[in-house]
Amino acid sequence: MRIPFVAGNWKMNTTVAEAEKLVLEMLDRLDRIEGVEKVLCPPFVSLVAVSMMLRGSSVNLGAQNMYFMTEGAYTGEISPLMLRESCEFVILGHSERRRHFGETDEIVNRKVKAALANNLKPILCVGERLEENEAGKTEEVINRQVTAALDGVGPVVPSRSREQTERVSENLVIAYEPVWAIGTGKAASGEQAAATIELIRSVVAKLWDGNMAQELRILYGGSVTGANIAEFASQPEIDGALVGGASLKAEEFVSIVKHAAEIKARIG
Ligand code: PEP
Repeated sequence: MRIPFVAGNWKMNTTVAEAEKLVLEMLDRLDRIEGVEKVLCPPFVSLVAVSMMLRGSSVNLGAQNMYFMTEGAYTGEISPLMLRESCEFVILGHSERRRHFGETDEIVNRKVKAALANNLKPILCVGERLEENEAGKTEEVINRQVTAALDGVGPVVPSRSREQTERVSENLVIAYEPVWAIGTGKAASGEQAAATIELIRSVVAKLWDGNMAQELRILYGGSVTGANIAEFASQPEIDGALVGGASLKAEEFVSIVKHAAEIKARIG
């Protein structure tokens, strides 16, 4: 049984004071929702403040990016060593990083490996652009992105205690985020998203094995709201959502998480 997962990516929004206010507005309600793993990903400068607010709650913290080196002369960068003090997760390979900051599949792969080696769990984003979708290249792009990002990764990774190893499927989440659906209000359909997620699972099965592919959580992301979450959560293949814009509104994000939990509990 895969535990459903909903993460909020706040992107480059909220000052520290605004981040604290937003957490205050949603934390109690989020905390009470059972049966779904909940993650907030505020900007770097708010991570420490938010981590203190989340302490003792059932809500986890994630960063939105990191560099693949652990320390050194990389002015302006943030390392996995710095993040793991406060975060459990880190979003990697988001399409906005690929597009605006030139992140290649190779860079994403180095980041995934560095995160896992330092006990951070990547939320690995993959997704095709509009022109790739229209040219019928979705399968090819997804295959390439997943295979490249996971090259040399797993099947086991160090555990937090470092005394043993854990299956990589317990330490990684993949988010299928078609670029044309991000921030556009034009979400994919549940069937479209489920079909691509099935494809991702088959790529992962070839890289590791079928059991691990079945254990791995794969989310949909792209214009998810309280009004359309049911369409995605009701697909057995889709394990939850990575939510951008709607995660900045307390009511809306709580409603997304609540609906996801209820629907997943119902369909088992
Ligand atoms: C995202 O940034 O990962 C995302 C899915 O954004 P939005 O929900 O705003 O489309």
